[in-house]
Amino acid sequence: MAFRTIESVIAPGNLHFVGDGFRVHGILGREEPLTMKRMSPFLLMDYGPTHYFPPNNGAPRGVGSHPHRGIETVTIAYKGRVEHHDSSGGGGIIAEGDVQWMTSGSGILHKEYHEKNFGKKGGEMQMVQLWVNLPAKDKMTTPKYQNLNKKNITTVQLENNAGSVDIIAGDFEGSKGPASTFTPLSLYNVHLNKGKGTSFSFTASHNTGLLITKGSATINNIEKAPTNHFVLFENDGKEFTIRADEDATILILSGEPIDEPIASYGPFVMNTNAEIKQTIDDFNSGKFGYLD
Ligand code: MN
Repeated sequence: MAFRTIESVIAPGNLHFVGDGFRVHGILGREEPLTMKRMSPFLLMDYGPTHYFPPNNGAPRGVGSHPHRGIETVTIAYKGRVEHHDSSGGGGIIAEGDVQWMTSGSGILHKEYHEKNFGKKGGEMQMVQLWVNLPAKDKMTTPKYQNLNKKNITTVQLENNAGSVDIIAGDFEGSKGPASTFTPLSLYNVHLNKGKGTSFSFTASHNTGLLITKGSATINNIEKAPTNHFVLFENDGKEFTIRADEDATILILSGEPIDEPIASYGPFVMNTNAEIKQTIDDFNSGKFGYLD
């Protein structure tokens, strides 16, 4: 069995606010080594570690109206509740344990903010937003949502009371996650009990990494990965192991790289600068709709 080597264990960088509601580490999509290319098809990941927001009776905290084209945004709520609505009248609440898989495709205009009652009462927020690239042939697909509620996410119990694996997308030990994707990828939340471990295997060429969202773990029996750290694997083998040093929750990402040029500008990710210019023209002429 060819093992997958650890390329690096990366500490979280500075925290920054997205709008006034999401206090995040920019994990993927910004700096070496975790550029938009390196973890393709995963372009970008903002991770909001647990943060207490005090009660707020003003306008909901969050991000105001903004567009997307050419990508999918995947929002995972670990703690707290996020609400959204878009220019076509769609909307909803992403509560603890839920995942929203939004395909922006040809274009969507939306807002993302703290759910009203959560915002008023205040509380802890912990969330991830991932941007998944679309292959060139699907960038202009019709926008859609997959609302993956906690109860619809497939859970596999591990042997020896080691814990469980919530499969959001992809397959694990013969079980399949609910998300439909445009390219082959896997996305799991793994819960491991202290002292217990398990192994995972993904096609060697698929870009693979993990984020420790709770607790800490030892990877491949050698490398310690503390809370909020990202482990990037080489593409030199299939299998790796995780052992929890304390009760741990770990987000695992693996996917087939989309080997196409990336042209990105803010919330738009296309293949060429001409397509970005067209996207900006379309946005300015109202083709994404209107939303205050
Ligand atoms: Mn957005």
